[in-house]
Amino acid sequence: MSGAPLVIIGSGLAGYNLAREWRKLDSTTPLLIISADDGRSYSKPMLSTGFAKNKQADELVMADVGAMAEQLNAELRTHTRVTRIEPEAKRLWLGNEALVYRDLVLALGADPIQLDIPGDAAEAVFSINDLEDYDRFRQAVAGKQRVLLMGAGLIGCEFANDLTSGGLSVSVVAPCEHVMPGLIQPAAAAAVQQALSDLGVQFHLGPVVSQLKRDGDALCAQLSDGQVINCDAVVSAIGLRPRTQLAADAGLAVARGVVVDRQLQCSLAHVYALGDCAEVDGLNLQYVMPLMNCARALAKTLAGEPTAVSYGAMPVVVKTPACPLVVAPPPAGRAGNWTVEGQAPDLRVLCHDEQGQLLGYNLTGGCTGERMALNKGLPALLA
Ligand SMILES: Cc1cc2nc3c(=O)[nH]c(=O)nc-3n(C[C@H](O)[C@H](O)[C@H](O)COP(=O)(O)OP(=O)(O)OC[C@H]3O[C@@H](n4cnc5c(N)ncnc54)[C@H](O)[C@@H]3O)c2cc1C
Repeated sequence: MSGAPLVIIGSGLAGYNLAREWRKLDSTTPLLIISADDGRSYSKPMLSTGFAKNKQADELVMADVGAMAEQLNAELRTHTRVTRIEPEAKRLWLGNEALVYRDLVLALGADPIQLDIPGDAAEAVFSINDLEDYDRFRQAVAGKQRVLLMGAGLIGCEFANDLTSGGLSVSVVAPCEHVMPGLIQPAAAAAVQQALSDLGVQFHLGPVVSQLKRDGDALCAQLSDGQVINCDAVVSAIGLRPRTQLAADAGLAVARGVVVDRQLQCSLAHVYALGDCAEVDGLNLQYVMPLMNCARALAKTLAGEPTAVSYGAMPVVVKTPACPLVVAPPPAGRAGNWTVEGQAPDLRVLCHDEQGQLLGYNLTGGCTGERMALNKGLPALLA
């Protein structure tokens, strides 16, 4: 077993960043990366800024599989799905083929939540969660004009801004009172929504899409409040669910994500997880900064120096250039009072606890420049 490789499942930012960090510490142990997709290296956040820049999928690629294999001194198996894991035997399965590992890392990402929409056009709904999705969607809307976007969360708002800036006509439908519910305060949401409306985005907040039918080459969406929207394509951006099934079937503990401790270790030995699929000490944060911290800590652990991950403050820059927004949500379980200063679109929305300690913020417009100063006063999310 001494020659068995470190196996990483997943070639997204989590898998590749872990591989990079670990190779800095261990240049000799064999490394095998298995990916269900084509293994090209790209930065997923670029998927929601590509239309405004008129970027084809190929133009978002940072390195192809060959370059990644060389850079990481790794074997890469692409378009290959791990179908089963046997942690007790330190073995995994690719269909009928079995492989042994020294240590196994799950960097499986998250699946777009799919809605079962009545009508005859459910398969015309796109999710954009990887490079291939982006490519398919770009091809589908080439020469088309009208997009219905389901979801007004962070990703939905980014796509609304980007597709509109890219020349498409966008209608947003979401069953909420304001954009990014649960993430930002109503005042900040109103500033973002106003700016997106000024850009040309049509908001239909409250109803859901209750039926989607084909209408010749186009689509006809019936909303639950009786409105009808005619469009050429539908994008669903209603959230992502961590990919946990493989881990659950292997007997690993799973909650919202694959449960790991502060050393990113799963509930059984020699299996680790990070990125969108992982729930670290109760937190499933689907952002880049947390997974980078995890990659650095796990690389050390896998190189023989057990290291716990920590998260400082983790503000998120929301890519809505129509109204720049930075969000630092308060740590889980810490409630405080929110105050609003400034005038839209330049708002400083702050959350303080009873002792006056800053817990979180929403900054919009010109106030986003204050984030560095404010970050110093924020509590760590995972000390
Ligand atoms: C449009 C968009 C914009 C975003 N913008 C931002 C941003 O501005 N800032 C920010 O911080 N975060 C942003 N995020 C979130 C961030 O991009 C993600 O948190 C991060 O990319 C997740 O990386 P990952 O490697 O965990 O998952 P993924 O990139 O989804 O990778 C998962 C990998 O696992 C593989 N896989 C899964 N199951 C199997 C299997 N059984 N066998 C083999 N391979 C398998 C897949 O093929 C894939 O290679 C954005 C997300 C989206 C969708």
